Amino acid sequence: MTIRHRSYFFDQGILFECRQCGACCTGDPGIVHVYHDEVESIARYLSVGVLSFIEKYLYTINREYGIKEHADGQCYFYQDGCTIYPVRPGQCRTFPFWFENLRSSKKWRQVSKACPGIGSGKLYYKEQILQIINSTFVDHANNIP
Ligand code: SF4
Repeated sequence: MTIRHRSYFFDQGILFECRQCGACCTGDPGIVHVYHDEVESIARYLSVGVLSFIEKYLYTINREYGIKEHADGQCYFYQDGCTIYPVRPGQCRTFPFWFENLRSSKKWRQVSKACPGIGSGKLYYKEQILQIINSTFVDHANNIP
């Protein structure tokens, strides 16, 4: 049986619309990965050079980049909302539809408590959700400088 034909707790879809409350951009520290192609588009959006952008906002982790956070865990790009929202990294764009969040209904309930965008807004169909999960596994290896 393929992944698409299996039954999941989200077979009827999930309502979600980001309210830009910032709950997932602040609080506990975490790693927000940024890939090379994303680095270029964010730097362009901010009208800064790629190298100075990397120096100011990113740190290296293994062969990738992560976004710097303030001491309290707040993302460097969060100031009363995401300041790079149109070009935010794929990791942010695909939240909360991450594999780790959707692997069980119990985990999803926990995520739902922390994200007020879940439960209202646009209906995401099972097929769309599986596509989003799949997109998070895209190999960015060729984009690493
Ligand atoms: S916690 Fe949910 S509603 Fe709030 S910014 Fe994150 S995704 Fe959007």
